[in-house]
Amino acid sequence: MSTYPKVNETKELIKQLVSIPSPSGNTTKVIQFVEEFLEDLQVETKRNRKGGLIATLPGTNEEEHRMLTAHVDTLGAMVKEVKSNGRLRLDLIGGFKYNAIEGEYCEIHTSSGKVFTGTILMHQTSVHVYKEAGDAKRNQENMEVRIDAKVENAEDIRKLGIEVGDFVSFDPRVQFADNGFIKSRHLDDKASVAILLQLIKRVKEEKLTLPYTTHFLISNNEEIGYGGNSNVTPETIEYLAVDMGAMGDGQSTDEFTVSICVKDASGPYHYGLRKHLVQLAEKNKIGYKLDIYPYYGSDASAAIRSGHDIIHGLIGPGIDSSHAYERTHEESLHHTEQLVYEYVKSEIVSY
Ligand SMILES: [Zn+2]
Repeated sequence: MSTYPKVNETKELIKQLVSIPSPSGNTTKVIQFVEEFLEDLQVETKRNRKGGLIATLPGTNEEEHRMLTAHVDTLGAMVKEVKSNGRLRLDLIGGFKYNAIEGEYCEIHTSSGKVFTGTILMHQTSVHVYKEAGDAKRNQENMEVRIDAKVENAEDIRKLGIEVGDFVSFDPRVQFADNGFIKSRHLDDKASVAILLQLIKRVKEEKLTLPYTTHFLISNNEEIGYGGNSNVTPETIEYLAVDMGAMGDGQSTDEFTVSICVKDASGPYHYGLRKHLVQLAEKNKIGYKLDIYPYYGSDASAAIRSGHDIIHGLIGPGIDSSHAYERTHEESLHHTEQLVYEYVKSEIVSY
């Protein structure tokens, strides 16, 4: 009897993944981590030129393929300007607002490999000095990085080796509550990467042969729009993105089920595949929600847009306050793990 899914193992893996800084554009270390994880499972992998990783499990049917993707890149920033006041101006990587990182601890990664710590602050933070501290706009102009080093001007900063173009990563803030809640800034989409890695591990441990050759693309440029739009084999029929479900007013997604996306800003996902996923959930008593994500695009829609003739879908754990102080619950991981497991074992329906 299999004891899967092992949600505690998944959580441990999430902790390891979110603790490796990987803003889009600087993902080599986290890809290496995933590569080694898969190597230990004796799964063959290859890197694509843009730095993503592809793992393939040969299936009974080698003529028709499936592809699943999740992304390891996260939001982050880059040094835009070394300021004369000894602070750094930022340029953001990915889609989020400055208020989501106010007060956040960060790391500055220099091109020579040095790492400095700092804090992202409003220039007008001290209430003892700035009368309008609360009202000033949270934007590129007013927010800056206070580096934990004795620096008073641009020259001091440059002496440390910090320069325009250095990557800045945010504190992952990972915490597990006793009642199953999971918090971290980067659950999007490292929670799903952990889910896919656990899926591959389960398939290997249970010595399953999947019905179709199945590729897993660990993409590293999703937050900037083009992570999963390449390396789709001509044999690929279905392409499933496993990425976060978006929560908020009017959304049905929650932290306790798997969210099946029916439509996002790119348009509807494939109707047939969506119905297939729902059937699998119903049959296996997997808690799910159907939902529309208004301001969202996925690696699956990116693949469609770049011209691949595929059947595309999107599912994932529900993430509260996405692209900010994210949270989910282990129940959501559990249901997502169950659905991807049933999905990779299922026959491709003729739509
Ligand atoms: Zn994502």
